[in-house]
Amino acid sequence: MTEIIDGNAVAESVRADVSEAVDELEAAGVTPRLATVLMSTDPASETYVSMKQRDCEEVGIATEDVELDSEAPAEDLYDTIDELNDDDAVDGILVQMPVPDHVDDGRVLRSIDPVKDVDGLHPENIGRLVAGETRYKPCTPHGIQKLLAAVDVDTEGKDAVVIGRSRLVGKPMANLFVQKAGGGNATTTVCHSRTADLAEKTRGADILVAAAGVPEMVDASMVSDGAVVVDVGINQVEADTEKGYELVGDVDFESVREKASAITPVPGGVGPMTRAMLLYNTVGAASRRSGVDVSLS
Ligand code: NAD
Repeated sequence: MTEIIDGNAVAESVRADVSEAVDELEAAGVTPRLATVLMSTDPASETYVSMKQRDCEEVGIATEDVELDSEAPAEDLYDTIDELNDDDAVDGILVQMPVPDHVDDGRVLRSIDPVKDVDGLHPENIGRLVAGETRYKPCTPHGIQKLLAAVDVDTEGKDAVVIGRSRLVGKPMANLFVQKAGGGNATTTVCHSRTADLAEKTRGADILVAAAGVPEMVDASMVSDGAVVVDVGINQVEADTEKGYELVGDVDFESVREKASAITPVPGGVGPMTRAMLLYNTVGAASRRSGVDVSLS
């Protein structure tokens, strides 16, 4: 029987742990606070930010909602980040990507105080991850590690294949898999848009993580019997629905589920975990900044 990995259920248990950690902080007089910064009129970005704020409120994390005109000068965003860096009441800063073209997104990520960088994308935090001195694990790959652990998939000694080499997902995922630590110790292959014979590589996977952003590109012929398949992709494809589209992953779920031992659905797989791990990192930031220990595994 193929296990359909329930990201909503695992995310709920992460939120329960986070909520307990928030109570521990509150008992010590600390209220964790996340500042979100939106400089976009993209409806999807607006939705993501409001979901993140709602998630925070549900577990007792305070939020600060900063919105900038998408046509404002780039300096306004850099100045906002400086102010939030200096604001002692703010533990975590999240700048919703993408930012407008006239803003240097690399500078944005570099400008955030690494201790408040709850997305884990500042070069210092990426460097720490690679060095094995992790401060914040980026939310999506961390969520995937938690999902695999929750369904008792041991990564040690396994062949892991990651499709995608982005700063957000592919690269940190591969780095977590190769770490000499729990959720790591896997022999890891990173595939990308220039990979020759992708299917040959993916068929070698005990654990396959698809993060290419190409609708249903992984079909059953690319997966070995018994593989664990994690679908990160969120792709809008035209469909005969009210909205005129539907969301599909990078994996052709119906064919791949016939071969996989376990598989994440889209929606309801990796997505909820990404959201939950932002809460986890924000509480971690508050704990780190205040010096109050919390029991968060
Ligand atoms: P990206 O566009 O930054 O990176 C995609 C990567 O895939 C690139 O490194 C590219 O080399 C590789 N790639 C593209 N086409 C390929 C192909 N045909 N064969 C092999 N490799 C190919 O995207 P990203 O930010 O890493 O996101 C990837 C997908 O995951 C998107 O659909 C995105 O919406 C989704 N996503 C989901 C979550 C979540 O929480 N579920 C979080 C982040 C991203």
